[in-house]
Amino acid sequence: MFDPFEEEYDIQTLAVRAGYEQTAEQENSEAIFPTSSFRYHSAEQAARRFSGEEAGNVYSRFTNPTVRTFEQRLAAMEGAQACVGTASGMSAILSTFMALCQAGDHVISSQSIFGTTKVLFTKYLMKFGIEVSFVSQTDLSEWQAAIKENTKAFFLETPSNPMTEVADLSALSALAKSNGCWLIVDNCFCTPILQRPLEQGADIVIHSATKFLDGQGRAIGGAVLGNAQLVGEEVRGFMRTCGPSMSPFNAWIFLKGLETLPIRMRAHCESALALAQWLEAHPKVEQVFYPGLKSHPQYALAQKQQSAGGGLLSFRIKGTKDDAWTVVDSTKMLSITANLGDVKTIITHPATTTHCRVSAEDRIKAGITDNLLRISVGLESIEDIKRDLARGLDKL
Ligand SMILES: *Cc1c(COP(=O)(O)O)cnc(C)c1O
Repeated sequence: MFDPFEEEYDIQTLAVRAGYEQTAEQENSEAIFPTSSFRYHSAEQAARRFSGEEAGNVYSRFTNPTVRTFEQRLAAMEGAQACVGTASGMSAILSTFMALCQAGDHVISSQSIFGTTKVLFTKYLMKFGIEVSFVSQTDLSEWQAAIKENTKAFFLETPSNPMTEVADLSALSALAKSNGCWLIVDNCFCTPILQRPLEQGADIVIHSATKFLDGQGRAIGGAVLGNAQLVGEEVRGFMRTCGPSMSPFNAWIFLKGLETLPIRMRAHCESALALAQWLEAHPKVEQVFYPGLKSHPQYALAQKQQSAGGGLLSFRIKGTKDDAWTVVDSTKMLSITANLGDVKTIITHPATTTHCRVSAEDRIKAGITDNLLRISVGLESIEDIKRDLARGLDKL
């Protein structure tokens, strides 16, 4: 059987082969196990499985072979000891904090995080006595100044959405470590193909599998990765008891998605860079935000920390909200939606969709002006993507 730890396999090979044990049917493509429970040979074996004395399947809320294949494959790719699949990216974040924190703890989060994560922190964690402070993604001194005696964890995503600000993972992990805190990184935008936060000192990595891991916009899921104690024991224990579990069907979609993740990410990045350069040269574009551009404020850090710029970019047009909407509404091919990480290119007007619940003042502070557009660059021909955007831009 293929053993990812027997030799040094490349991540491209792990994406295709890690985590799967062929069944007695000798199939070449991974089987799906849509079963809620498992049968034992005897009463004695049932007792051994329930007590944990014997490893093996018990009940699909916390042990399912298809979900385990996905978990082991992603763990091999992120270089993690343990991975727990979850029902969504949000439940991955919730499970992490429920398992690792308690009332009276304090968390420091970048202010440039996914909007729903912010609501989870301010509305729900706070309700259970976990306090969250928000600081600048890129200013280390703000993180330092926010540390309190009861600070338990740092949380961030890098690059951020939609402004693509890059956080310094090794500097923040050093600061977290010297203060006895965990660094938790949502690696949704880069995926392990571009950036492996655990190797740069992070303690926990979180994924929305819904995005690039699936890559074709089909299913909702998530994952938590880290060491055997924090994730293998604590987060898995939470999953066993509280149950925001990944379904075997979705796990199968995600593990097949992982197989093409390395080549998809390469193609997303190549097209995103070409589009960013084209937009930067367009007379109706004011500014482009993409970590792979030399004009990006953290270009040098991004070069050091990520192997490419990623599949997302945003840009400000020279114009108003109505002009931004003209660019959106003039497209014939791009999908007008707010998802990301799909093979289909997606155009979003953040100020009136993903960030409409943020106050106008906070939006401007975060750089999300009315003339900002976000593109999740898909796998159509780059020339067709440019032509679709030019339709509106050339009208302004
Ligand atoms: C979408 C997203 C999430 C939430 O994931 P779901 O699968 O939609 O629950 C979390 N973090 C980031 C960065 C995301 O883009």
